[in-house]
Amino acid sequence: MSVPSGRVLIVGAGPAGMTLAYLLARRGVGVTVLETHTDFARSFRGEGLQRSGIDAFRQMGLGAQFDLIPHIELRTVEIYSNGRLVVRTDAAGLGRGQARIVSQPALLQMLADEAGKHSNFRLEVGVTMRDFLRENDRVVGVRAGAADGPREYRADLVVGADGRHAATRKHSGFPEISSPQTFDLLWLKVPYPDDFPDRATAMFEVATQRSALAFPTADGQLQVGFAIPKGEFSSLRAGGGDGWTEQLIGRLPAYLADHLRAHREAVAGAVLLNVVAGRLTEWTAPGLLLIGDAAHPMSPVGGQGVNIALRDALVAANHLCPVLTAGGDPSAIDAAARRVRDDRWPEIVSVQKMQEHQVRMLFDPDSWGTRLTYRLLPFLIRTGLLQWLQRKEYRMMSDGVVPVRLVV
Ligand SMILES: Cc1cc2nc3c(=O)[nH]c(=O)nc-3n(C[C@H](O)[C@H](O)[C@H](O)COP(=O)(O)OP(=O)(O)OC[C@H]3O[C@@H](n4cnc5c(N)ncnc54)[C@H](O)[C@@H]3O)c2cc1C
Repeated sequence: MSVPSGRVLIVGAGPAGMTLAYLLARRGVGVTVLETHTDFARSFRGEGLQRSGIDAFRQMGLGAQFDLIPHIELRTVEIYSNGRLVVRTDAAGLGRGQARIVSQPALLQMLADEAGKHSNFRLEVGVTMRDFLRENDRVVGVRAGAADGPREYRADLVVGADGRHAATRKHSGFPEISSPQTFDLLWLKVPYPDDFPDRATAMFEVATQRSALAFPTADGQLQVGFAIPKGEFSSLRAGGGDGWTEQLIGRLPAYLADHLRAHREAVAGAVLLNVVAGRLTEWTAPGLLLIGDAAHPMSPVGGQGVNIALRDALVAANHLCPVLTAGGDPSAIDAAARRVRDDRWPEIVSVQKMQEHQVRMLFDPDSWGTRLTYRLLPFLIRTGLLQWLQRKEYRMMSDGVVPVRLVV
Protein backbone atom coordinates (compact mmCIF):
# COMPACT_ATOMS: atom_id res chain seq x y z
CA MET A 1 0.00 0.00 0.00
CA SER A 2 1.36 3.44 -0.88
CA VAL A 3 0.41 6.22 1.53
CA PRO A 4 0.68 9.97 0.71
CA SER A 5 2.53 11.64 3.56
CA GLY A 6 2.93 15.37 2.85
CA ARG A 7 6.26 16.99 2.33
CA VAL A 8 8.01 15.71 5.44
CA LEU A 9 7.97 12.20 6.86
CA ILE A 10 9.26 11.84 10.42
CA VAL A 11 10.20 8.41 11.73
CA GLY A 12 9.73 8.24 15.52
CA ALA A 13 7.29 10.06 17.83
CA GLY A 14 9.75 10.79 20.65
CA PRO A 15 10.62 14.29 21.89
CA ALA A 16 12.66 15.14 18.76
CA GLY A 17 10.15 13.85 16.21
CA MET A 18 6.99 15.19 17.86
CA THR A 19 8.49 18.64 18.51
CA LEU A 20 9.65 19.04 14.92
CA ALA A 21 6.30 17.75 13.66
CA TYR A 22 4.43 20.32 15.75
CA LEU A 23 6.67 23.17 14.59
CA LEU A 24 6.35 22.23 10.90
CA ALA A 25 2.60 21.58 11.14
CA ARG A 26 1.85 24.98 12.65
CA ARG A 27 3.66 26.63 9.74
CA GLY A 28 1.46 24.77 7.30
CA VAL A 29 3.97 22.12 6.18
CA GLY A 30 2.40 18.71 5.46
CA VAL A 31 3.96 16.30 7.94
CA THR A 32 3.40 12.65 8.83
CA VAL A 33 4.95 10.94 11.86
CA LEU A 34 5.39 7.15 11.98
CA GLU A 35 5.60 5.54 15.43
CA THR A 36 6.23 1.86 15.99
CA HIS A 37 4.35 1.78 19.31
CA THR A 38 0.60 2.21 19.43
CA ASP A 39 0.69 4.73 22.29
CA PHE A 40 3.13 6.95 24.21
CA ALA A 41 3.19 4.84 27.39
CA ARG A 42 6.63 3.30 28.05
CA SER A 43 8.02 2.08 31.35
CA PHE A 44 11.20 4.14 31.28
CA ARG A 45 12.08 7.11 29.13
CA GLY A 46 14.20 10.12 29.94
CA GLU A 47 12.03 12.37 32.09
CA GLY A 48 14.55 14.86 33.49
CA LEU A 49 13.97 18.30 31.96
CA GLN A 50 16.65 20.92 32.50
CA ARG A 51 16.18 24.67 32.11
CA SER A 52 17.15 24.41 28.41
CA GLY A 53 14.41 21.87 27.72
CA ILE A 54 11.81 23.85 29.66
CA ASP A 55 12.85 26.98 27.76
CA ALA A 56 12.23 25.13 24.48
CA PHE A 57 8.54 24.77 25.40
CA ARG A 58 8.29 28.41 26.41
CA GLN A 59 9.86 29.46 23.09
CA MET A 60 7.30 27.36 21.22
CA GLY A 61 4.53 29.21 23.04
CA LEU A 62 3.57 25.99 24.84
CA GLY A 63 4.67 27.13 28.32
CA ALA A 64 1.16 27.07 29.81
CA GLN A 65 0.42 23.58 28.42
CA PHE A 66 3.83 22.37 29.64
CA ASP A 67 3.21 23.68 33.17
CA LEU A 68 -0.03 21.67 33.34
CA ILE A 69 1.80 18.37 32.73
CA PRO A 70 2.29 16.36 35.93
CA HIS A 71 5.83 16.98 37.18
CA ILE A 72 8.13 17.12 40.18
CA GLU A 73 10.45 20.08 40.77
CA LEU A 74 13.80 19.02 42.21
CA ARG A 75 15.10 21.30 44.95
CA THR A 76 17.39 19.12 47.07
CA VAL A 77 20.01 16.43 46.49
CA GLU A 78 21.09 13.94 49.15
CA ILE A 79 24.34 12.01 48.76
CA TYR A 80 24.81 8.73 50.60
CA SER A 81 27.90 6.57 50.94
CA ASN A 82 27.71 3.02 52.32
CA GLY A 83 24.08 3.71 53.22
CA ARG A 84 24.93 6.78 55.34
CA LEU A 85 23.88 10.33 54.50
CA VAL A 86 27.03 12.34 53.86
CA VAL A 87 25.59 15.55 52.51
CA ARG A 88 22.25 17.20 51.77
CA THR A 89 22.48 20.16 49.44
CA ASP A 90 20.63 22.56 47.18
CA ALA A 91 20.00 21.06 43.70
CA ALA A 92 20.65 24.44 42.04
CA GLY A 93 24.30 24.40 43.16
CA LEU A 94 24.78 21.10 41.31
CA GLY A 95 23.39 22.52 38.09
CA ARG A 96 19.85 21.31 38.66
CA GLY A 97 18.17 24.67 39.31
CA GLN A 98 14.49 24.45 38.31
CA ALA A 99 15.01 20.94 36.89
CA ARG A 100 11.80 18.94 36.57
CA ILE A 101 10.89 15.29 36.39
CA VAL A 102 8.15 15.34 33.78
CA SER A 103 5.88 12.54 32.63
CA GLN A 104 7.17 11.90 29.09
CA PRO A 105 4.01 10.14 27.83
CA ALA A 106 1.98 13.19 28.94
CA LEU A 107 4.49 15.52 27.30
CA LEU A 108 4.33 13.65 23.98
CA GLN A 109 0.52 13.53 24.15
CA MET A 110 0.44 17.30 24.65
CA LEU A 111 2.62 17.79 21.55
CA ALA A 112 0.40 15.39 19.57
CA ASP A 113 -2.72 17.29 20.69
CA GLU A 114 -1.20 20.64 19.68
CA ALA A 115 0.04 19.33 16.33
CA GLY A 116 -3.34 17.64 15.78
CA LYS A 117 -5.00 21.06 15.70
CA HIS A 118 -3.51 21.41 12.20
CA SER A 119 -5.12 19.38 9.43
CA ASN A 120 -1.75 19.01 7.65
CA PHE A 121 -0.40 16.86 10.56
CA ARG A 122 -0.80 13.08 10.72
CA LEU A 123 0.43 10.61 13.34
CA GLU A 124 0.42 6.96 12.29
CA VAL A 125 0.97 4.60 15.22
CA GLY A 126 1.83 0.91 15.06
CA VAL A 127 3.92 1.56 11.93
CA THR A 128 7.57 0.50 11.89
CA MET A 129 10.07 1.93 9.42
CA ARG A 130 12.01 -0.92 7.77
CA ASP A 131 14.11 0.68 5.03
CA PHE A 132 14.43 3.72 2.79
CA LEU A 133 12.94 4.15 -0.65
CA ARG A 134 15.68 5.58 -2.86
CA GLU A 135 15.58 6.95 -6.38
CA ASN A 136 18.61 8.37 -8.21
CA ASP A 137 20.71 8.46 -5.04
CA ARG A 138 17.99 10.37 -3.16
CA VAL A 139 15.91 9.14 -0.23
CA VAL A 140 12.32 9.63 -1.38
CA GLY A 141 10.44 7.84 1.37
CA VAL A 142 10.40 4.71 3.53
CA ARG A 143 9.17 1.15 3.49
CA ALA A 144 7.32 0.33 6.69
CA GLY A 145 5.43 -2.51 8.32
CA ALA A 146 2.04 -2.27 10.03
CA ALA A 147 -0.51 -4.78 11.35
CA ASP A 148 -2.28 -4.79 7.98
CA GLY A 149 0.91 -5.44 6.00
CA PRO A 150 3.73 -3.51 4.32
CA ARG A 151 3.35 0.15 3.40
CA GLU A 152 5.31 2.71 1.43
CA TYR A 153 5.45 6.40 2.31
CA ARG A 154 6.90 9.07 0.02
CA ALA A 155 8.04 12.56 1.00
CA ASP A 156 10.34 15.43 -0.03
CA LEU A 157 12.33 14.92 3.17
CA VAL A 158 12.59 11.96 5.56
CA VAL A 159 13.61 12.85 9.13
CA GLY A 160 14.97 10.00 11.24
CA ALA A 161 14.04 10.66 14.89
CA ASP A 162 13.76 7.02 15.92
CA GLY A 163 16.06 7.05 18.93
CA ARG A 164 19.09 5.19 20.21
CA HIS A 165 18.57 2.01 18.17
CA ALA A 166 17.41 3.88 15.08
CA ALA A 167 16.65 1.94 11.93
CA THR A 168 17.23 5.17 10.01
CA ARG A 169 20.78 5.35 11.41
CA LYS A 170 21.46 1.74 10.48
CA HIS A 171 20.21 2.18 6.90
CA SER A 172 21.87 5.58 6.44
CA GLY A 173 25.35 4.05 6.63
CA PHE A 174 26.65 7.32 8.12
CA PRO A 175 30.01 7.03 9.92
CA GLU A 176 29.78 6.99 13.72
CA ILE A 177 32.06 7.98 16.56
CA SER A 178 30.97 5.67 19.33
CA SER A 179 31.82 6.34 22.93
CA PRO A 180 32.45 3.09 24.85
CA GLN A 181 30.37 2.95 28.04
CA THR A 182 31.42 1.29 31.30
CA PHE A 183 28.02 0.86 32.91
CA ASP A 184 24.41 -0.17 32.32
CA LEU A 185 21.37 0.92 34.28
CA LEU A 186 18.64 -1.08 35.95
CA TRP A 187 15.43 0.91 36.33
CA LEU A 188 12.41 0.17 38.46
CA LYS A 189 9.51 1.96 40.12
CA VAL A 190 8.09 1.27 43.57
CA PRO A 191 5.38 3.01 45.60
CA TYR A 192 6.66 6.26 47.17
CA PRO A 193 8.07 5.39 50.63
CA ASP A 194 6.65 7.38 53.55
CA ASP A 195 10.12 7.98 55.00
CA PHE A 196 11.59 9.48 51.80
CA PRO A 197 12.57 13.07 52.70
CA ASP A 198 10.08 14.82 50.41
CA ARG A 199 8.84 14.95 46.84
CA ALA A 200 11.44 17.54 45.80
CA THR A 201 14.51 15.50 46.74
CA ALA A 202 16.69 13.17 44.68
CA MET A 203 19.11 10.81 46.42
CA PHE A 204 22.35 9.28 45.19
CA GLU A 205 24.28 6.41 46.74
CA VAL A 206 27.82 6.74 45.43
CA ALA A 207 30.14 3.76 45.12
CA THR A 208 32.62 2.81 42.42
CA GLN A 209 30.65 1.18 39.58
CA ARG A 210 27.80 0.49 41.99
CA SER A 211 26.04 3.82 42.30
CA ALA A 212 22.30 4.11 42.72
CA LEU A 213 19.81 6.93 42.52
CA ALA A 214 16.18 7.45 43.52
CA PHE A 215 13.75 10.27 42.89
CA PRO A 216 10.00 10.84 43.13
CA THR A 217 8.09 10.67 39.84
CA ALA A 218 5.19 12.70 38.55
CA ASP A 219 2.88 9.68 38.86
CA GLY A 220 3.40 9.57 42.63
CA GLN A 221 5.93 6.71 42.74
CA LEU A 222 9.65 6.45 43.41
CA GLN A 223 11.98 5.70 40.50
CA VAL A 224 15.12 3.81 41.40
CA GLY A 225 18.14 3.26 39.17
CA PHE A 226 21.12 0.99 39.82
CA ALA A 227 24.34 1.44 37.85
CA ILE A 228 26.04 -1.91 37.22
CA PRO A 229 29.25 -2.67 35.31
CA LYS A 230 28.53 -2.92 31.60
CA GLY A 231 27.34 -6.31 30.41
CA GLU A 232 27.14 -7.85 33.89
CA PHE A 233 23.37 -8.13 34.23
CA SER A 234 23.25 -11.84 33.27
CA SER A 235 26.05 -12.84 35.61
CA LEU A 236 24.52 -10.73 38.40
CA ARG A 237 21.23 -12.62 38.07
CA ALA A 238 22.87 -16.00 37.55
CA GLY A 239 22.79 -16.84 41.26
CA GLY A 240 18.98 -16.64 41.21
CA GLY A 241 16.92 -16.37 44.41
CA ASP A 242 17.03 -13.15 46.44
CA GLY A 243 20.84 -12.99 46.41
CA TRP A 244 21.27 -10.75 43.40
CA THR A 245 18.52 -8.30 44.33
CA GLU A 246 20.00 -8.13 47.83
CA GLN A 247 23.37 -7.17 46.31
CA LEU A 248 21.67 -4.12 44.81
CA ILE A 249 19.38 -3.24 47.70
CA GLY A 250 21.88 -3.85 50.49
CA ARG A 251 23.95 -0.77 49.79
CA LEU A 252 21.07 1.69 50.08
CA PRO A 253 20.09 3.60 53.23
CA ALA A 254 18.33 1.19 55.62
CA TYR A 255 14.83 2.70 55.29
CA LEU A 256 14.98 2.52 51.50
CA ALA A 257 16.51 -0.97 51.48
CA ASP A 258 13.63 -2.19 53.71
CA HIS A 259 11.12 -0.55 51.40
CA LEU A 260 12.64 -2.26 48.35
CA ARG A 261 12.71 -5.62 50.17
CA ALA A 262 8.97 -5.17 50.72
CA HIS A 263 8.66 -4.67 46.95
CA ARG A 264 11.25 -7.21 45.90
CA GLU A 265 9.22 -8.30 42.87
CA ALA A 266 9.73 -4.80 41.40
CA VAL A 267 13.52 -5.12 41.92
CA ALA A 268 13.55 -8.59 40.36
CA GLY A 269 11.60 -7.18 37.39
CA ALA A 270 13.97 -4.22 36.89
CA VAL A 271 14.38 -3.16 33.27
CA LEU A 272 17.92 -3.21 31.88
CA LEU A 273 18.93 -0.13 29.93
CA ASN A 274 21.92 -0.92 27.81
CA VAL A 275 23.71 2.45 27.92
CA VAL A 276 25.03 3.54 24.52
CA ALA A 277 26.41 6.88 23.44
CA GLY A 278 28.07 8.37 20.38
CA ARG A 279 27.44 10.59 17.38
CA LEU A 280 27.27 10.31 13.63
CA THR A 281 29.73 12.55 11.86
CA GLU A 282 27.15 13.12 9.09
CA TRP A 283 23.43 13.52 9.68
CA THR A 284 22.26 14.19 6.16
CA ALA A 285 22.12 12.72 2.68
CA PRO A 286 19.94 13.90 -0.22
CA GLY A 287 16.34 13.68 1.05
CA LEU A 288 17.36 12.60 4.59
CA LEU A 289 18.10 14.24 7.95
CA LEU A 290 18.70 12.51 11.30
CA ILE A 291 18.11 14.30 14.63
CA GLY A 292 17.93 13.44 18.34
CA ASP A 293 19.27 10.13 19.58
CA ALA A 294 19.08 8.76 16.04
CA ALA A 295 21.97 11.09 15.13
CA HIS A 296 23.72 11.10 18.52
CA PRO A 297 22.57 8.57 21.17
CA MET A 298 22.98 10.28 24.54
CA SER A 299 24.16 8.71 27.77
CA PRO A 300 21.65 9.11 30.61
CA VAL A 301 24.29 10.96 32.68
CA GLY A 302 23.08 14.38 33.73
CA GLY A 303 19.62 13.95 32.16
CA GLN A 304 20.55 15.61 28.86
CA GLY A 305 18.99 13.60 26.01
CA VAL A 306 15.44 14.94 25.99
CA ASN A 307 16.68 18.52 26.27
CA ILE A 308 19.13 18.05 23.42
CA ALA A 309 16.46 16.35 21.30
CA LEU A 310 14.10 19.31 21.81
CA ARG A 311 16.83 21.77 20.85
CA ASP A 312 17.67 19.73 17.72
CA ALA A 313 14.01 20.05 16.71
CA LEU A 314 13.95 23.83 17.23
CA VAL A 315 17.07 24.29 15.09
CA ALA A 316 15.72 21.91 12.43
CA ALA A 317 12.47 23.91 12.27
CA ASN A 318 14.43 27.17 11.95
CA HIS A 319 16.25 25.89 8.87
CA LEU A 320 13.56 23.75 7.25
CA CYS A 321 10.42 25.91 7.62
CA PRO A 322 11.56 28.72 5.32
CA VAL A 323 12.59 26.41 2.46
CA LEU A 324 9.58 24.12 2.80
CA THR A 325 7.02 26.92 2.95
CA ALA A 326 8.70 28.68 0.02
CA GLY A 327 8.23 25.52 -2.06
CA GLY A 328 11.96 24.79 -1.84
CA ASP A 329 13.51 22.53 -4.39
CA PRO A 330 15.38 19.39 -3.30
CA SER A 331 18.78 21.08 -3.24
CA ALA A 332 17.45 23.90 -0.98
CA ILE A 333 15.97 21.31 1.39
CA ASP A 334 19.24 19.38 1.50
CA ALA A 335 21.26 22.55 2.14
CA ALA A 336 18.90 23.46 5.01
CA ALA A 337 19.28 19.95 6.47
CA ARG A 338 23.08 20.25 6.39
CA ARG A 339 22.89 23.52 8.34
CA VAL A 340 21.00 21.69 11.12
CA ARG A 341 23.92 19.34 11.65
CA ASP A 342 26.46 22.17 11.51
CA ASP A 343 24.55 24.27 14.08
CA ARG A 344 24.03 21.40 16.52
CA TRP A 345 27.45 19.74 16.28
CA PRO A 346 29.34 21.93 18.82
CA GLU A 347 26.73 21.41 21.57
CA ILE A 348 26.50 17.65 20.99
CA VAL A 349 30.28 17.24 21.15
CA SER A 350 30.58 19.39 24.30
CA VAL A 351 27.75 17.68 26.18
CA GLN A 352 28.95 14.18 25.30
CA LYS A 353 32.48 15.12 26.43
CA MET A 354 31.11 16.46 29.74
CA GLN A 355 29.14 13.24 30.21
CA GLU A 356 32.27 11.16 29.51
CA HIS A 357 34.18 13.24 32.04
CA GLN A 358 31.52 12.69 34.70
CA VAL A 359 31.50 8.95 34.01
CA ARG A 360 35.31 8.82 34.37
CA MET A 361 35.08 10.66 37.69
CA LEU A 362 32.24 8.57 39.08
CA PHE A 363 32.33 5.10 37.54
CA ASP A 364 35.88 4.21 36.61
CA PRO A 365 36.86 1.46 39.07
CA ASP A 366 40.58 1.72 38.35
CA SER A 367 40.95 5.44 38.58
CA TRP A 368 42.55 7.09 41.59
CA GLY A 369 40.51 10.14 40.59
CA THR A 370 37.27 8.24 41.21
CA ARG A 371 38.41 7.01 44.61
CA LEU A 372 39.54 10.50 45.56
CA THR A 373 36.28 12.02 44.31
CA TYR A 374 34.24 9.68 46.50
CA ARG A 375 36.40 10.34 49.54
CA LEU A 376 36.35 14.12 49.13
CA LEU A 377 32.81 14.54 47.83
CA PRO A 378 31.11 15.47 51.13
CA PHE A 379 33.83 18.04 51.88
CA LEU A 380 33.78 19.45 48.36
CA ILE A 381 30.00 19.85 48.39
CA ARG A 382 29.65 21.15 51.95
CA THR A 383 32.26 23.84 51.34
CA GLY A 384 30.75 24.70 47.95
CA LEU A 385 34.09 23.91 46.26
CA LEU A 386 32.64 21.33 43.89
CA GLN A 387 29.84 23.70 42.87
CA TRP A 388 32.45 26.41 42.20
CA LEU A 389 34.91 24.16 40.36
CA GLN A 390 32.20 22.66 38.19
CA ARG A 391 30.10 25.80 37.76
CA LYS A 392 30.77 26.22 34.05
CA GLU A 393 29.99 22.58 33.29
CA TYR A 394 26.84 22.64 35.43
CA ARG A 395 25.63 25.83 33.78
CA MET A 396 26.10 24.34 30.30
CA MET A 397 24.32 21.12 31.24
CA SER A 398 21.45 23.16 32.62
CA ASP A 399 21.13 25.98 30.06
CA GLY A 400 22.78 24.45 27.00
CA VAL A 401 26.19 25.08 25.49
CA VAL A 402 25.16 27.39 22.66
CA PRO A 403 22.15 29.71 22.45
CA VAL A 404 19.16 28.18 20.65
CA ARG A 405 16.46 30.63 19.53
CA LEU A 406 13.34 29.52 17.69
CA VAL A 407 12.76 32.01 14.89
CA VAL A 408 9.90 30.39 12.94
C1 LIG B 1 18.05 5.09 31.26
C2 LIG B 1 17.95 6.38 30.57
C3 LIG B 1 17.58 7.49 31.30
C4 LIG B 1 17.54 8.73 30.70
N1 LIG B 1 17.20 9.81 31.45
C5 LIG B 1 17.13 11.01 30.85
C6 LIG B 1 16.72 12.16 31.58
O1 LIG B 1 16.42 12.11 32.77
N2 LIG B 1 16.64 13.35 30.92
C7 LIG B 1 16.93 13.44 29.60
O2 LIG B 1 16.86 14.54 29.05
N3 LIG B 1 17.30 12.35 28.87
C8 LIG B 1 17.40 11.16 29.46
N4 LIG B 1 17.75 10.06 28.72
C9 LIG B 1 17.99 10.20 27.29
C10 LIG B 1 16.67 10.41 26.55
O3 LIG B 1 15.72 9.44 26.91
C11 LIG B 1 16.88 10.39 25.06
O4 LIG B 1 18.07 11.07 24.74
C12 LIG B 1 15.70 11.08 24.35
O5 LIG B 1 14.50 10.40 24.62
C13 LIG B 1 15.93 11.13 22.85
O6 LIG B 1 14.77 11.60 22.21
P1 LIG B 1 14.49 11.17 20.70
O7 LIG B 1 13.18 11.79 20.34
O8 LIG B 1 15.66 11.45 19.87
O9 LIG B 1 14.37 9.58 20.75
P2 LIG B 1 13.39 8.64 21.57
O10 LIG B 1 12.87 9.30 22.76
O11 LIG B 1 14.10 7.35 21.75
O12 LIG B 1 12.17 8.42 20.58
C14 LIG B 1 12.29 7.62 19.42
C15 LIG B 1 10.91 7.12 19.01
O13 LIG B 1 11.04 6.41 17.78
C16 LIG B 1 10.25 5.23 17.86
N5 LIG B 1 10.85 4.26 16.91
C17 LIG B 1 11.99 3.57 17.06
N6 LIG B 1 12.24 2.82 15.97
C18 LIG B 1 11.23 3.07 15.10
C19 LIG B 1 10.93 2.59 13.78
N7 LIG B 1 11.76 1.74 13.13
N8 LIG B 1 9.80 3.01 13.17
C20 LIG B 1 8.96 3.89 13.81
N9 LIG B 1 9.20 4.37 15.07
C21 LIG B 1 10.33 3.97 15.70
C22 LIG B 1 10.37 4.81 19.32
O14 LIG B 1 9.32 3.97 19.70
C23 LIG B 1 10.31 6.16 20.03
O15 LIG B 1 8.99 6.55 20.33
C24 LIG B 1 17.83 8.84 29.32
C25 LIG B 1 18.17 7.71 28.57
C26 LIG B 1 18.25 6.50 29.19
C27 LIG B 1 18.67 5.32 28.39
